[in-house]
Amino acid sequence: MADKKLVLHPSNPWAILQDPPLLLDHLRGFGLLGSSFPHLGDLHYHAGPRFAELVQFRSSGAGLAAAVSACHVSLLETMPEPSFLAGSNARPPACPRCHAKFVNWSKDIPAWQADKRQYRWRCPGCARNLPVEALDWDGTAGVARYALDIWGVGEREAEPTRELLGFLAAEMAEHWQFFYYVF
Ligand SMILES: [Zn+2]
Repeated sequence: MADKKLVLHPSNPWAILQDPPLLLDHLRGFGLLGSSFPHLGDLHYHAGPRFAELVQFRSSGAGLAAAVSACHVSLLETMPEPSFLAGSNARPPACPRCHAKFVNWSKDIPAWQADKRQYRWRCPGCARNLPVEALDWDGTAGVARYALDIWGVGEREAEPTRELLGFLAAEMAEHWQFFYYVF
């Protein structure tokens, strides 16, 4: 299945990945990644031996085995600037303080794209000015320059474990978060 994915990325939208082969090598050693294969012109990786321990699925038994075997992983390498990473399932973000929804969020995207470092999102509830990384997308979108894509995971079907997020945080010296992407 290639129509849905779980996307892991650094919380800092400006964070870059200096050595992609090194991260892939460490993720293989950690057991997340197995062998590589070509997929639509990119290199993807089958689920590694510890994949099901590092990505916690809601299903179990035969359903879990089928879900895991359908998963594969790829690395989105560093882009020149932070990108809004979201699929058709993106929902309005909320203010982390007052929880007001930015219902007109898509209208702010061009202004943010024009000045990604300085642009502040004005909360419609409490009028605070927020950097893009402060917005709470409730697991439906993210902003980053690189990401780890776990293909085959639908919305809320599975979550990265604290062990996996902790591994990435230690490797990259950045806090990591995740969201669900539906094409
Ligand atoms: Zn607010």
